[in-house]
Amino acid sequence: MEQARETIARLMGAKATELVFTGSATEANNLALKGHAFREGKSKCHIAISEIEHSSILNTARWLETQGVRVTFLPVDKYGLLKIAQLEEALKKQVTLVSVVHGNNEIGSVQPIEIITKICHKHGALFHTDAVQSFGKLPIDVNQMNIDLMTINAHKMYGPKGVGALYLNRDNAELDPLIHGGGHEFGLRAGTENVPGIVGFGKAVELRRNEMQDEEHVLTKLRDALIKGVLELKDTYLNGHPSKRLPNNANFRFSYIEGEALVLDLDGAGIATSSGSACSSMAKEASHVLLAIGLKQEEARGSLRFSLGKYNNEEDIDYILQVLPEIVKRLRSMSPLQPKAETPQTSAKVEGR
Ligand SMILES: *Cc1c(COP(=O)(O)O)cnc(C)c1O
Repeated sequence: MEQARETIARLMGAKATELVFTGSATEANNLALKGHAFREGKSKCHIAISEIEHSSILNTARWLETQGVRVTFLPVDKYGLLKIAQLEEALKKQVTLVSVVHGNNEIGSVQPIEIITKICHKHGALFHTDAVQSFGKLPIDVNQMNIDLMTINAHKMYGPKGVGALYLNRDNAELDPLIHGGGHEFGLRAGTENVPGIVGFGKAVELRRNEMQDEEHVLTKLRDALIKGVLELKDTYLNGHPSKRLPNNANFRFSYIEGEALVLDLDGAGIATSSGSACSSMAKEASHVLLAIGLKQEEARGSLRFSLGKYNNEEDIDYILQVLPEIVKRLRSMSPLQPKAETPQTSAKVEGR
């Protein structure tokens, strides 16, 4: 376990003693926000989070708000990048902790962390980032980037499920534990650790260290080929930034179609995609991330996410680009959302699924 702690810490330029193992990234995010709030106390604590956070940050912040903690939501632009002027404005109100996701899990936007941390520190606020999607994919150095707290997990980088970790800068970030008991994890997370999971996490990081640099280029190429091909379809748009995005993420908006219908048809063709975030696919509401970048309800519901990984290749992209246009055409032909002029005169045959 201590060897794994060393290996994982090294990939982010941290010391082993700065890593607290948890049962998930969700728990690490809870520990960062609640641990900070409990330490600061209600009267002093003021947390600012972006509007495109993962539900484990968003709902933790919302809950803290019900407990009397001051919470500010920071807007993003149409690409999903934090609006820096609004951040500066918010920081004038004694914000104690800012939390902004590094690589967004839905639209892939990657934030300019160095710029954000500098501004936060200038105003005396700590900075936390949820780096679950970027750690092991993009280079991260917590010291160079001036990150005070950072959340990661194992299973988003081919490791086992059920293990996460919180990095905390021992020089300035102080937290109260959420779970009290023995002195495990430097007194910040009591309970016997998940040793097999943690060892698996360490092994996953060891493998990533050798793979990630080449893979970033390979995936970026595949991603851009997918984006180029899909955007050739009419009334189809890219969600998120064209280049400042995770190498494995592509998210599109298709006019006149429900993303959920696309997910089902693509699944039938052996292509696994997601509308909204994987963690909230059961939720009926449109994705808060897509609404935050300015999409209307209907536009958000017409969006679809592709995630690539190390087992994908050019053939997969070719196959998607071969199958997708037909599916899109068919769904549009029977869509009530389609503008009148484009509705085919013959009644479209509805095929059973
Ligand atoms: C998956 C994910 C999480 C939650 O991770 P768990 O380990 O399943 O709790 C948190 N943040 C982001 C950005 C994610 O993609």
